[in-house]
Order: sequence, then structure tokens, then C-alpha cells
Amino acid sequence: MKAVIFEGAYEVEVRDKDRPGIAEPTDALLRVTTAAICGSDLHMYDGRTAMETGHILGHEIMGVIEQVGPAVRSIKAGDRVVLPFNIGCGVCFNCNRGLANFCLTVNPEKAHAAYGYAGMGKFEGGQTEYVRVPFADFNALKVPGQPFDEFEDDFILLADIFPTGYHATELAHVGPGSTVAVFGAGPVGLLSAYSALLKGAAEVYVVDRIEERLALAAELGATPIDIAKGNPVEQIKDMRRSNALLQDRLRPGEDKMGGVMCGIDAVGYQARSDDDYERENAMQVITHLASLVNPTGHIGLIGVYMQPDPGGGTDAEKQGIYPIPIGQLWGNGITIGMGQCPVKRYNEFLRDLIIDGRAKPGRIITHRIRIGDAPGAYAKFDKRVDGYVKVLIQFR
Ligand code: NAD
Ligand code: ZN
Repeated sequence: MKAVIFEGAYEVEVRDKDRPGIAEPTDALLRVTTAAICGSDLHMYDGRTAMETGHILGHEIMGVIEQVGPAVRSIKAGDRVVLPFNIGCGVCFNCNRGLANFCLTVNPEKAHAAYGYAGMGKFEGGQTEYVRVPFADFNALKVPGQPFDEFEDDFILLADIFPTGYHATELAHVGPGSTVAVFGAGPVGLLSAYSALLKGAAEVYVVDRIEERLALAAELGATPIDIAKGNPVEQIKDMRRSNALLQDRLRPGEDKMGGVMCGIDAVGYQARSDDDYERENAMQVITHLASLVNPTGHIGLIGVYMQPDPGGGTDAEKQGIYPIPIGQLWGNGITIGMGQCPVKRYNEFLRDLIIDGRAKPGRIITHRIRIGDAPGAYAKFDKRVDGYVKVLIQFR
């Protein structure tokens, strides 16, 4: 079978690999119909993780069950399913509490596991034709319809970024009427903004400096903020200050709440500097959020901060240690949530919003390719050029 294989920094190759089989009675074998390329794959592509060469990449996977092991009860050959990117056993202390993102038994080294990802166990990824699905009863989400019907582009996003965007809004306590700022208009930032709007947020700002991504944010109903036009924190505060209706309703002292209540970092440790997009400044977004989020507000760090990071600028950064403005955050009583998304906590009800036609996350997909075109797509997505926002590898 053909597979996208990590061969080192800026090098992915499409090569033949042996097809996996059923290794445990609780396994299933999935024939992949669509696998997506994720911003998280770029951390490996950029050589910014401890990923070893030779692995199949890809953790956003859907398809049709080809075969199940003798202990699998709830799914069968022919079922159409989406896989959460986290792999859970379903029965450990954390899985039991709905936190399969911190499963304790699947990866012997750490409290989490995923397909084709650095530091998350030795599971092969899904940018290939067949994938072994451990604990298939727990990890496969059944979806209706047929491969490549009108929902394929929406359902594939249930593997990661739609639940992940939704989780970001949970970490940032977004609800009806909330004021929300999302840094990063990549796929995760866009679907964080979309989730905030689905929840009925009042104001949703999306910050980036890539025009076509900001245009997508506006299409979803958010307010785009272009870093090229000035400090994004000041832009958002100015916009709110110059809105007469917002000003008219303030009680005494409320001008101290001129920022937003909910902040989302959908960028992570590879954040670019406001002054020079070619340069990284890992603390750029957190620093902005510390000034933008109002006292008593909430921040969700959904963008990844990596440990270890071989490409970190300093010895501390190589260990994932950063100087965050903790005094300012503490002084304002800000809560911060972070980490990998517990996909299973949300994927069923987000699937049903899609089926009901109330959510259409596939709107952000820009490219559909064949596996042979993956190396070129990685290179363009990595440079964020030519409108590459979300790429699907389709196996028709
Ligand atoms: P992406 O790299 O395509 O998007 C990042 C966006 O941030 C880009 O558009 C970039 O221009 C923008 N950006 C860079 N510096 C910025 C700055 N200073 N201010 C504002 N915007 C800036 O990737 P993506 O797929 O959207 O993923 C975003 C992050 O989310 C990545 O770190 C990814 O690993 C992470 N992620 C986390 C989870 C999770 O479970 N927590 C799941 C999936 C992805
Ligand atoms: Zn992903």
C-alpha cells in the first residue's frame, strides 16, 4: 500500500509499505477513504519534534471497516467510521472519566497516544490506504452515508480539528454572548471561531496576517484582524471602544473590561513575531492574550507547545520552557486551560450537528489531492502559500 512517510526535516516521501493486519482481538482494520494533513504534522515536517524517520504520518483518518478482530462487538466490516486522533483503551482511570486524550495504557511511555505522531506511541499514521485501529469498539465513531458523499469533507474534520476547535472554546469558557479573540486563522483557529459562533458568542475576532485565511474567517462570520495593520490587541480594543452601542451600555469602571473575556491561542510554539513573519517568537500570542483578556477572563491554549523541541531558539526553549507573563495573568485572575483535545468527548454530538445540517465545518477545506501529490502539498501548506489551508488526501 502507498503511504506518506516521514524521512526527516522537510522530507516526506510516498512509498510502499506492508499492509497492517489484525494484531489483537480488539483491533479493526480500516480501509482509508480520506486522511487530512494537519498543522500538527508540520511540527514534525519542520523537524521540531523527536519524531523518528520511517514512520507513516497522519492522525486525521476516516474510511470503511475492512475487517474486525473476534472481540469487536459494536462495529463490523462495511461500517463507515471516523477515528479520533487520540487512541484510548476505554477502561483506564482517564478514559473512564472521558479523558481518552490521556489514556494510561495504550502508550507505555506517556499518558497519551495517537496515530503517526511524535511522542505518542509507535502507532503508524493514516496517510495511507489501510490503518490498524486499536480498541476499535472505543475508538471508531460510526457515521452514516457512503464514501465521498456530501458529508465526507465534514466528517473527516471530526477526527481532530472540529472537536479541537470546540474544545478550545470550552477551555476559554465561551458561551452565548461571549466576547472571543482567536489567534491563528489556520484550520484550528477557524474552527475555534466557528464553534464559538455555533455556541452563540457575540463578538468573535480572528487574528492572523495571511489574507486568504482572514477572508475565510470573515466568511464564517468572525471579524478578521490583520496583524499587518498594527498591534492586534490595540486593533480589537479600538474597535470595541469605537462601537457606540457597546460604549453606551457601560456601568462605572467597566472601561477596564475593554478587551475580551475569552482568548484562544490556536498558534502554539511556532508563533511568528508581529514585527517579522519570517521569525518565530514563541511567546508572541501568550503575551498578547495576557493584555487582551479582561480581568476574570479565560484563556485556552489549543496550539501545541512541544517538549522537547530540537529547533528551539534557546536551551530552555528546547525543553519547552518559556517566560510567560505570569504576574499579569495572576493579577487579573485569569484561568488557563491547555493540552490535547479529548476528541471523544465531543465527536458524537458534533457529528449530529453535521447530519442535521447545522454545522458545515468542511467549508474551510481548500485542497483535495491524491497521495502522490502529498510531498508538494506538505511543502506549500508549510509555507502557507497558494491558499493552502486544509488539505485532504483522498483514496478514491
Ligand atoms: P496552521 O499552522 O495552519 O495555523 C497556524 C496559523 O497561525 C497560521 O495561519 C499562521 O499564519 C498563524 N500565526 C502565526 N503566528 C501568529 C501570530 N503571532 N499571531 C496570530 N497568528 C499567527 O495550523 P493549524 O492546523 O490551524 O494548527 C494550529 C495549532 O493547533 C498547531 O500548533 C497545531 O499543532 C495545534 N493543534 C492542537 C491540537 C490539540 O489537540 N490541542 C489538535 C490539532 C492541532
Ligand atoms: Zn490534527
